[in-house]
Amino acid sequence: MLDVAGISKRFGDLQVLSDISFTVTRGETVCVLGPSGSGKSTLLRCINWLERPDAGQIYLNGDRIGINNGGVVMSDRELSRVRTRIGMVFQHFALWPHLTVLQNLMEAPVQVQRRPAAEVREEAMALLAKVGLSDKADVFPARLSGGQKQRVGIARALAMKPDVLLFDEPTSALDPELVGEVLLVMRELAREGRTMVIVTHEMGFARDAATRILFMDRGRVVETGPPERFFVSPDTERARQFIQRYA
Ligand code: ADP
Ligand code: MG
Repeated sequence: MLDVAGISKRFGDLQVLSDISFTVTRGETVCVLGPSGSGKSTLLRCINWLERPDAGQIYLNGDRIGINNGGVVMSDRELSRVRTRIGMVFQHFALWPHLTVLQNLMEAPVQVQRRPAAEVREEAMALLAKVGLSDKADVFPARLSGGQKQRVGIARALAMKPDVLLFDEPTSALDPELVGEVLLVMRELAREGRTMVIVTHEMGFARDAATRILFMDRGRVVETGPPERFFVSPDTERARQFIQRYA
């Protein structure tokens, strides 16, 4: 489904990602763990070309992201089309404040994917029901709690019918009592077999919802494996220290 092949990225003198490779198969929930500054956000941003990698390739179902068939960097137009196949959920929600909840869900499917508004509206209402927010369709984001905003963020990502969903610390900005309602939605998506890459510090969630852990440190994938193995008997000292500290 998603193939990340040899991605490297530097900012000035700082090598942020060094030769990152991994594949995500259909239906997998991959949780990316690692200390702050290890390059997790930059990796997600490179996958959908919000950040342009210095080297390496990203393939989604065999189609290369960022570089078109002619071998040149995609235009903004091409990029926004290809990005609708990659749903992104951000730490700070990134909802459009001037649009209602329903309009937030409908914007990309109608404007970028050019799908019929009536059909998109019906699907959007079903998604709001799925995340428990049917009654908030006509409300503006400012009126929502953080947990509700993030559930809208997830529904909005799903509205594009993406092949893969990327989450960047979706619960880190939330008050502790609001984390659970968002994790519940994410657990349900994992159970449904959505293909997801989730950067998180929620170790309990990673332990019981991930099919695989990717542990990063200093811009490299240091360790990868099923959660049962990663949390119980990690291969590396760095992973052991990380688990001791956070899990
Ligand atoms: P993480 O998400 O794991 O905390 P990031 O990917 O955000 O890590 O950042 C990795 C490193 O890259 C950090 O040292 C950060 O300061 C640096 N970095 C991230 N984005 C930029 C940028 N646009 N310009 C310069 N440095 C950046
Ligand atoms: Mg980050």
